[in-house]
Amino acid sequence: MPDSVMRESVLRESETHTLVIGGGVIGCAIAYECAKQGLAVTLLDKGTIGSEASQAAAGMLGAQVESHHDGPFYELCKASRDLYRTWTDELEQISGCSIDYIANGIVRVALTETDEVELKGRLPWFGDGVKWQTREQLLTLEPTLGEEVRGGIYFADDHQVHAPKLSEALHAALRTLGVRMIEHADIEQWLLDEQQSHVRGVQLADETIMSTQTVIAAGAWSQSLLEPFDLHLPIQPVKGQCYAVRPQKPVIGHTVFTKGCYVVPKLDGSLVIGATEERSGFDKSINPDAVDTIQQTVIKLLPELARATFERTWTGLRPASADGMPFLGKAPRWDNLFVAAGHYRNGILLTPITAKLMSALLLGQPTTIDLKPFAVDRLL
Ligand SMILES: Cc1cc2nc3c(=O)[nH]c(=O)nc-3n(C[C@H](O)[C@H](O)[C@H](O)COP(=O)(O)OP(=O)(O)OC[C@H]3O[C@@H](n4cnc5c(N)ncnc54)[C@H](O)[C@@H]3O)c2cc1C
Repeated sequence: MPDSVMRESVLRESETHTLVIGGGVIGCAIAYECAKQGLAVTLLDKGTIGSEASQAAAGMLGAQVESHHDGPFYELCKASRDLYRTWTDELEQISGCSIDYIANGIVRVALTETDEVELKGRLPWFGDGVKWQTREQLLTLEPTLGEEVRGGIYFADDHQVHAPKLSEALHAALRTLGVRMIEHADIEQWLLDEQQSHVRGVQLADETIMSTQTVIAAGAWSQSLLEPFDLHLPIQPVKGQCYAVRPQKPVIGHTVFTKGCYVVPKLDGSLVIGATEERSGFDKSINPDAVDTIQQTVIKLLPELARATFERTWTGLRPASADGMPFLGKAPRWDNLFVAAGHYRNGILLTPITAKLMSALLLGQPTTIDLKPFAVDRLL
């Protein structure tokens, strides 16, 4: 190793304590919480910060609309939703960026009898305050719902944010907090100790970065990153395609959601509509037919949107774990390697709680939630 690189690596060893791999909302938020609490952090991304799944998301904080049964995952989602407002208020202050938090709920409607039965089956564990609403009751909330809407549930506390703006705010806050961020970072080699139980850092093309603890938060790419550690984490990319339209006048005031389709009103008057679920590897190509397919359900949901102006379409790769829950915690057999990945359809919602729990682990503090159900080795 040339002298200059050697000197730099020694310097960084004394400076950098926490190395975060992955600059989506999950990696950025972990870096943010750690930096706020005084840890020195370096964050690496193979591309640019916030440019993968995190920029594709519709931004729903759907703790209830996205949960199909009671249990630890539902509790995790609710805990994150409860944190959101305060957490993003502080993020907005530190970053100077708005993330467009909108505190109106989600109207989850049934278009078919089967969907109605499934939805009604969820009511007992949602608890008080969440009731079945008839079609007439829903029309008082959203008067333009289509004729096929049978009824549904109004989730008043499932709010939303602007997902790309959340990434931008995190990026700006990391700059403010002095986190070193390296984009287009290509990890050439992991630096491991002889016992193969301790990560010492990474070798990039032009720099060695030493770390005392490392977090893998690389979304859909986490599986391949963990292979060198003999960890075969079941996380697969699931492509989602969304599109945006602009109606001539406001059509809805809440997010409207049904099986396989949602319409999310944004502050600028546009509507984000999604999304497909495609298991086609790391292919991110746009399918022109996907918009037409989703639009068929949208017309049943909100017929007035047939006249809205199409603006653009995009895709992203959701990091889907085999059981739909994220992996949060220390990697088995490694004493300073951590994983926060596999947030699938709910990574925006789960950002604050993931950041809080992971930073507690990295700081050696107790966590507010039992992490056993999310253990990294639960499916190995
Ligand atoms: C269409 C769509 C709609 C969605 N809607 C919602 C929603 O409404 N609400 C919600 O809560 N969630 C939603 N999601 C899910 C949410 O977007 C994800 O769960 C979340 O963004 C995952 O964040 P992440 O940081 O784990 O992954 P990503 O945002 O994908 O970030 C991973 C990062 O790791 C980097 N990386 C990969 N490999 C390496 C490497 N070798 N070295 C360094 N860096 C690497 C990548 O470049 C990337 O920047 C949606 C997703 C999609 C696709």
